[in-house]
Amino acid sequence: MENNLINYNKFVSSTNIEGPGNRFAIWLQGCVINCFGCSNQEMIPLIKKTVRPVSELFKAIVDAKERFNIEGITVLGGEPLIQPKALEELLFLCKSIGLTTIVFSGYLYENIKEKYPKIIESLDILIDGPFMINKLDKSRRLVGSTNQRIWKLSDVYENNPYFEQSTIEGEFSIEDNVVSINGDGAHLYPENNNLIKMWEEHKKNNKK
Ligand code: SF4
Repeated sequence: MENNLINYNKFVSSTNIEGPGNRFAIWLQGCVINCFGCSNQEMIPLIKKTVRPVSELFKAIVDAKERFNIEGITVLGGEPLIQPKALEELLFLCKSIGLTTIVFSGYLYENIKEKYPKIIESLDILIDGPFMINKLDKSRRLVGSTNQRIWKLSDVYENNPYFEQSTIEGEFSIEDNVVSINGDGAHLYPENNNLIKMWEEHKKNNKK
């Protein structure tokens, strides 16, 4: 398989809140969907952030497997599907060493399956659909809004209730002198958040 370049914002070698078990989580850079209220605004610009060969990133994942006994990787964004070749290679390599795979995408499963079937073949879980601030979902773990769907594409997590739980989690970590904060999107919005008021304003203004 060719060695593609991958453009990412950050990674955390070991996290317990981005899917079942202990996982390597990576946030890719760039998104063209621009959901109102996206909690990863700094990952939307289509700029070069950290650009490395996939093989180099994979070494960090192998290292995390040895050091932290991770059971899988979770790929978030930004929008992972705007780097399909790199994503396909990364998922293929991770599956080849027995890791489970989770990807978040603002695109829909049906479209991804049609355009990138090999990515779907290498996935255990896909969480799909754009984030919609007027449909906040506080009942399901990891999911931001009620339109987003959790696709169990293999039987690995078929009977695992993890995704249907409403656990609220946030995590701070320090790696290579960089502090990272990650956590459940919708749960971080208080009931009367200004963002919801801004959304209403935004809708009103766009009707004019
Ligand atoms: S698809 Fe994801 S990264 Fe892109 S704007 Fe929407 S929530 Fe943000």
